Amino acid sequence: MLDKTKFYIDGSWVAPIDGTNFPVINPATEEAFATIALGGEKDAEAAIAAAKAAFPAWSATSPETRIGYLEKLLAAYEARSQDMAVAISSEMGAPIDMSLSDQAGSGRGHLKAFIRALGSIEFQRPIRPGVEGQDIAYEAAGVAALITPWNWPMNQVVLKVGAALAAGCTMVLKPSEIAPMSSIIFAECIDAAGLPAGVFNMVNGDGAGVGSLLSSHPDIDVVSFTGSTRAGILISKAAADTVKTVSLELGGKSPNLVFDDCDVAAAVARGAAFCFNNTGQSCNAASRMLVERSAYELAVDVAAATARDTTVDLPSKPGNHIGPLVSEAQFDKVQGLIKAGIDEGARLVAGGLGRPDGLNRGWFVKPTVFADTTQEMTIIREEIFGPVLAIMPFDTEEEAIALANDTPYGLAAYVQTGDMDRARRVAAQLRAGMIQVNGANRISGSPFGGYKQSGVGREGGMWGIEEFLEIKTISGIV
Ligand code: NAD
Repeated sequence: MLDKTKFYIDGSWVAPIDGTNFPVINPATEEAFATIALGGEKDAEAAIAAAKAAFPAWSATSPETRIGYLEKLLAAYEARSQDMAVAISSEMGAPIDMSLSDQAGSGRGHLKAFIRALGSIEFQRPIRPGVEGQDIAYEAAGVAALITPWNWPMNQVVLKVGAALAAGCTMVLKPSEIAPMSSIIFAECIDAAGLPAGVFNMVNGDGAGVGSLLSSHPDIDVVSFTGSTRAGILISKAAADTVKTVSLELGGKSPNLVFDDCDVAAAVARGAAFCFNNTGQSCNAASRMLVERSAYELAVDVAAATARDTTVDLPSKPGNHIGPLVSEAQFDKVQGLIKAGIDEGARLVAGGLGRPDGLNRGWFVKPTVFADTTQEMTIIREEIFGPVLAIMPFDTEEEAIALANDTPYGLAAYVQTGDMDRARRVAAQLRAGMIQVNGANRISGSPFGGYKQSGVGREGGMWGIEEFLEIKTISGIV
């Protein structure tokens, strides 16, 4: 059993002051493989105090100095990629190849994008070209609390830490208590990069403990959170009394609109595979597939075949299969939602309840497809966070857009069409932060975030750095 109970505070690994031990469980074996500590009030206070003390000097560094540190961090991160991949795979179940290329790889891409963006930000400039004595300055917003989930652990940690460092903020990271191992390696990378003590601090803990202490503490200026809408609402309320800047990257129920003027079989196979990727545990999962009626039965058949062809296996094995869900709680939640789909009358065409054959241990679930779903069904309304795809037909473009937008979420939307005029028209009317046409991926450094209850603010590249900056107007200096 690995002992990982220390926290990284003020440039050193320190024993908890009032922590309690907590097991880290491998979701493929259901066995604990490490022990962390859940910090208490004194641990959170120590980390916040260190970040506050480090703020004046760090926020006064030049962008060039910060680029230098980010480059050292990138080198340290790249050197630990393999360790990072193993940690992520063990803590949350991503298959090892995908853990290296996508999970660990995403952090590398974000760091590079922040380095590029930081080089192009003008931190002080005239309000308009040619206007004298009217300057706009962008300054580090202060001490940031960074609270992250377990589903894309390094993606989310690096999106926050990289942006906060680039902006000149100091910070306290509280990673998910379910997937803390990758963040411990990340803190080792920060240490190896030689960042000044106190700029980055990490305290493990749960939401009710360290999470709520950070989001309500008077010395925290910015809270950046990724996770459930439930926790995002609680954090916003906790932050309100001290009027913090709060950015939230929350859940989604993203629609995938498939028109019959594209290669339907290819588009549906790609969309279903994307829904099952990371065992469905992605906030931007394309979990609702809306299909033009003329192509509907073909789409149902292809999606069901894609689910049957998706291999579920141990995360430690190489290959492009999917792994287990992260925890027993997620397993129970996903089983409950599959049951709701069946009970509410959706047509189950692949997968269903229980574990896949041959996997009797671990939180493995069957890639599942429901057809003939309706807007009232629980599996259409709720974020499932499992490999479960819900399909429904539409008759017109207007109806497709209305169905797509009929959700409290607005993170991403996907459009499959051979007609670029239609793609433009539909993209303009979808109420979501990210529209992806015909599978075209966003490049690193693009803004990531959503409309409506999917969140507030954007992460990634320049937009991510802006979340950690205050705007100051200076008039009269000529
Ligand atoms: P969660 O939102 O409860 O936890 C995410 C992070 O927030 C963790 O670090 C947790 O300790 C912290 N947290 C929880 N409550 C908090 C509070 N009151 N104050 C401060 N911090 C708090 O997520 P979960 O319970 O692990 O998962 C529940 C559901 O959330 C999932 O089924 C899924 O639907 C959704 N989820 C969404 C995302 C996303 O990226 N959108 C990520 C993870 C989970």
